[in-house]
Order: sequence, then C-alpha cells, then structure tokens
Amino acid sequence: MPELPEVEFAARSLRRWAEGHQIEGVAVEPKAARIFRPATPRTFAKRIAGARFEGVRRIGKHLLVALERDGAPLGLLAHLGMTGKWVLRDGDDDVPRFSRAAFRLDDGRTLHFSDLRLFGRLRLVPGARFEAVPEVAALGPDPIDAGIDLARLAASLGRSRLAVKVRIMDQAVLAGVGNIYASEALFRARIDPRRPANDLSRAEIARVAEAVLAVLRESIARDEGDEITYVEEPGAANPFRMYDRAGERCPRCGQAEIQRIVQAQRSTFFCPRCQR
Ligand SMILES: [Zn+2]
Repeated sequence: MPELPEVEFAARSLRRWAEGHQIEGVAVEPKAARIFRPATPRTFAKRIAGARFEGVRRIGKHLLVALERDGAPLGLLAHLGMTGKWVLRDGDDDVPRFSRAAFRLDDGRTLHFSDLRLFGRLRLVPGARFEAVPEVAALGPDPIDAGIDLARLAASLGRSRLAVKVRIMDQAVLAGVGNIYASEALFRARIDPRRPANDLSRAEIARVAEAVLAVLRESIARDEGDEITYVEEPGAANPFRMYDRAGERCPRCGQAEIQRIVQAQRSTFFCPRCQR
C-alpha cells in the first residue's frame, strides 16, 4: 500500500511528465465512479479537459495538483488509496490494466490513473484551495518536507495511551507514515510497538524521529524508474527488514523470530528480543 515514499515517487513522476503540459481530453471509467466523488465521472472529465498542469505538491500521502483552466486555478487532490498508480503511455493504445482515468496530454502521451481496488481518489478542488479540504487541513507536518519537530512529536505521543505503533500512524501526528514504515521505524528505533505512546522517554522519542526519517529516506532513494511496484503485488520483491517477514530470523540479533501481531486491525511486525 502506498505510503509517503511511494506517493513522493508519484509526485516526482507527475512533475517530470506533466508539468507545463495541457490536458487535451480526459476519458474516465464510468464503473469507477467512486474515485471521482463528489463529482460524477462525466463532470470530472469535463472540468479537467483543457486544463494545464502547473505544479504538484505532496503532503503526507496526498498529492495536491495545481491546474489552470481558462486563466483560473483549479485543484486536483489525488490519493492513491491501496493500489493507485500514475502511469505514462505513449499514444492511445497500450492502456494499462485498471486504468480509471486517462489524461491525453498535448505532446501525444497519455497519463493514466490506474487503480485495481478503487480506493484511490481524484477530487476536484475549486480554486485550488486545498487548505479548505478538511482531510488536508487535518494533516500534521510532512516529515520529509518539514522535518520532525521533537517537541511537537513528544507532545503528540505524550497525550496518548494508544500503542506507539498506532499513534505514529495517525496522519495528524506524522503525515505519510503508514503501516509498513511504522513497523520498519520502530524496529530501527528498537522500540516495542505495543508500548503506550505516553510511556516513551525523550531519548526514545528522538530515536523514533530519527528512525522514521531514515526509513522514509532510504525508500525514496530506492524507488527509481518510471513505474513502481508495491510490495503486496504478486511477485514483487520485499525490500523491508520486518514487514511481512513473520517467522524469519531478526536481521539485527539473528536469534529471535520476527513476530506478527494485529494492532488496530493492521499487521505489525517486530522482534521481541531487540525491541523493548
Ligand atoms: Zn532481534
């Protein structure tokens, strides 16, 4: 499932492919109506056709695409959901599987939003006033863009008795950190994911902050090329140390087996020996 590094990959791809280009036409998949809500697929296509890509920002797992149409700003808020991807193709043929929206660019190439499971979102934002969208306004600082303010993180954790793994996945605490990177970061920080957030010392919180940045940066550096494969896809390599490795030996101590537990309906992977 895409988290901050995968969405950063999407942001960079979109900038490289589309910035400065005009969208000549849009074809949408009517069966994928929920992706475009509250607009209907038809309205969505009509409003976007003729717009020009001005720029792409990323906050957490959200892409804020600034367009211009007839001299006025128009926003497109894109979320990849569980399986969404942006894919570029030369021409009209060769449509990628699960393409839900195809944006024909002025240079003959076509930009596709493909999404197998339909949890992705493409939402029109009038006037590109993204800050007026409640889910954007609710986001905490983006760790890669803004860094991690230790005092703020300590305050967010200190207020909560939730397990630290669950707490750091709250998008108001660290925007963009999801299930995979929360497990990876807590392993790196040697913190037991089950500990109450308000139980961590200042030194441990600093370790968590360092680890979150390190695992995100590592992954951003690893993702290159034009297409991304998510770890859950059939046949994909698993580049992670803990995620989906239950039963394997811990890569740090080499002794304990990696455990899988469920926290807030999501799988957590950790080493019971290294993580305290
Ligand atoms: Zn271990």
